[in-house]
Amino acid sequence: MHKRTLSSIFMAAAALALAACQTAPMFNPGNAPAVFQRFGANPAGQQPMQVVELQWQDPAQLAEAAHAGLDLFGAQPERRRARARITPEQEVLLRQLGISYQPSLEPNMDRATGLPNGYMTYAQMTTKLQAMAQQYPQLVTLEDVGDTYLKQTGRAPNHDIWAISITNKQTGQKPTLMLTAGVHARELAPVELVMKLAEELTSKYGQDPQITQLMDTREVVLLPMVNVDGRVEVEKGDTWKRKNMNTTRGDGVDLNRNFDAHWNFEGLDVPSSWKRGLLDPRGQTYSGSAAASEPETQAVQSMYRRKRINASMDIHAYGEMFFWPLGSRREPIPEVNQYRNVYQNTFARHGYKGGTSLELLYATSGTTDDYGYVRHGAFSMGSEVGTSFRPSYSEVEAMWQMTRPSWLGLIQAAGTLHKDTTGLSFQTHAHHGH
Ligand SMILES: [Zn+2]
Repeated sequence: MHKRTLSSIFMAAAALALAACQTAPMFNPGNAPAVFQRFGANPAGQQPMQVVELQWQDPAQLAEAAHAGLDLFGAQPERRRARARITPEQEVLLRQLGISYQPSLEPNMDRATGLPNGYMTYAQMTTKLQAMAQQYPQLVTLEDVGDTYLKQTGRAPNHDIWAISITNKQTGQKPTLMLTAGVHARELAPVELVMKLAEELTSKYGQDPQITQLMDTREVVLLPMVNVDGRVEVEKGDTWKRKNMNTTRGDGVDLNRNFDAHWNFEGLDVPSSWKRGLLDPRGQTYSGSAAASEPETQAVQSMYRRKRINASMDIHAYGEMFFWPLGSRREPIPEVNQYRNVYQNTFARHGYKGGTSLELLYATSGTTDDYGYVRHGAFSMGSEVGTSFRPSYSEVEAMWQMTRPSWLGLIQAAGTLHKDTTGLSFQTHAHHGH
């Protein structure tokens, strides 16, 4: 059904493109993707960009926009709405796809400089992590797990990617949950939430019975800021920066499309049009020159090889969603009932939507969360937290208070999930110690 809708969209788009663009060279209506490549080819920043609110009727329309490389965010699938930051040519694309849109505003983005009050910089985060390692040596292991692109190329000597592991070191190996944040530079809240969790787990150990029990029986590995180079650009004022700083081909690589799991939909039978955005070095979903080509991607992947990660979540912003694998396949994975169970006992309670990327939005590939599941058999989840890129710090505090039981629930779940098909039920023990 989607396929037919899609091809009729293509035909309409092709016809419109001919009418709209006098200079269309030797256009072959049977080769619709060529039309879309023109839109993706506009270097970001050279054209005026505008933020719009999209409204679609059919998920296939949203998928076409996403696969063409549109910078989409803040999706609300149940209302069939999302925001996008578009060029004038992408505006034409939206009209061709029949997606209605109106001018909108993403709060605190366009006239912002640096970080909003209350947020920590990369440098401050580093200091804080080092202080935790010093203050709680019985719980904390702090490791530099990789250099960023700019450090590797000699342009940012201090840009290390940190992993903080927290557990009672006196007890043996335990089920491990890994959380990653800051893969996309402009998404500010996830970094703060992960740092708050680190502070909570260290400072409340021995006092809060639930946290004490968790740290005696689980290990938590946190990478609070994966895309350090991009984040430092945000701190300098480039508030829209999403990708890393490898500008060899374009203006950065989308790390959340660069992972070595069905990279560029490899091994999957998908329409070639799905790869348009992935192949455009100027697009916000450019997947890089090869699977795991980026040092930041390699740093995360190496954690799966070095540690035995039972469960993981890659935390993004924004949209209040909870994802499980696979991002690109329609048939559910065998463990889907366990994922649903974790979701129901955690983020569903905050009103988050749950499902695969394909179910909630559109197909994705080469993502951080697919990687953990596909390559290492981990219970690998993803999330979109909050309702804006740059919430005020009091909103972050409220988000933390609301979601705290869910983060603790995920830690607990890491020890109860099983790679099998029986759909064993998950119990949060959320009331333990209260
Ligand atoms: Zn993101």
